Amino acid sequence: MTKYTLRLAHLYGNLLNTYGDNGNILMLNYVAKQLGITLEMEVVSIHESFDPERYQLVFFGGGQDYEQMIVSKDIQDKKEPLTDYIENDGVLLAICGGYQLLGHYYIGADGEKIAGIGALDHYTLSQDNHRFIGDIVIHNDAFNETYYGFENHNGRTFLGEGERPLGTVVQGNGNNGEDQSEGVIYRNVFGSYFHGPLLARNPILAQRLLKTALVQKYGEAALADLPELPLAQI
Ligand code: GLN
Repeated sequence: MTKYTLRLAHLYGNLLNTYGDNGNILMLNYVAKQLGITLEMEVVSIHESFDPERYQLVFFGGGQDYEQMIVSKDIQDKKEPLTDYIENDGVLLAICGGYQLLGHYYIGADGEKIAGIGALDHYTLSQDNHRFIGDIVIHNDAFNETYYGFENHNGRTFLGEGERPLGTVVQGNGNNGEDQSEGVIYRNVFGSYFHGPLLARNPILAQRLLKTALVQKYGEAALADLPELPLAQI
């Protein structure tokens, strides 16, 4: 047993997991071990309640429109506890479909309106017979970090109040192909269209999520116990 333990909720882990998004959890677990943190993981899915006090990390992956519609109905029952978790600075990583469902809505490829929970202020429109697919590179000026990934999405997301992008597009399409933004940061929520998976290719982000969650549970002093990791970018 290590000195520090964090518990992660994998939201709808049995429904939303395209393009190896689960790899983000494997990566969190791998980096946690290197930092000397035990990571406990639980799937929270349909008809299961989400207890915001129980978790220090939440992961919400992407999926096809069909699975998103199923999740869209169920997640309305979790809207309040998830919003509480976010507003209390809980750490959450959302990819693609999960990212879309944290916002107001997503217009699916067939024009259907798929409701999100509006915990974040973005909304997502559709494209006519087109998807953004390909390698993507973005830069985050505040952290002075470059992130690499692969995007594959129909949705075009537009950020709202209090949201800033995860990065500015250097190569690829990003949130909507128009404003050069990619992903979102809101409080301790990180959203992105990056598959690949995001954290496996950008371990520095995995480390940031874990350290932020650790401070939430144990306070700043815990950071002094962690080793410095050589986290190379790909
Ligand atoms: N179905 C959504 C879209 O096409 C999300 C895709 C995904 O999660 N990969 O935009």
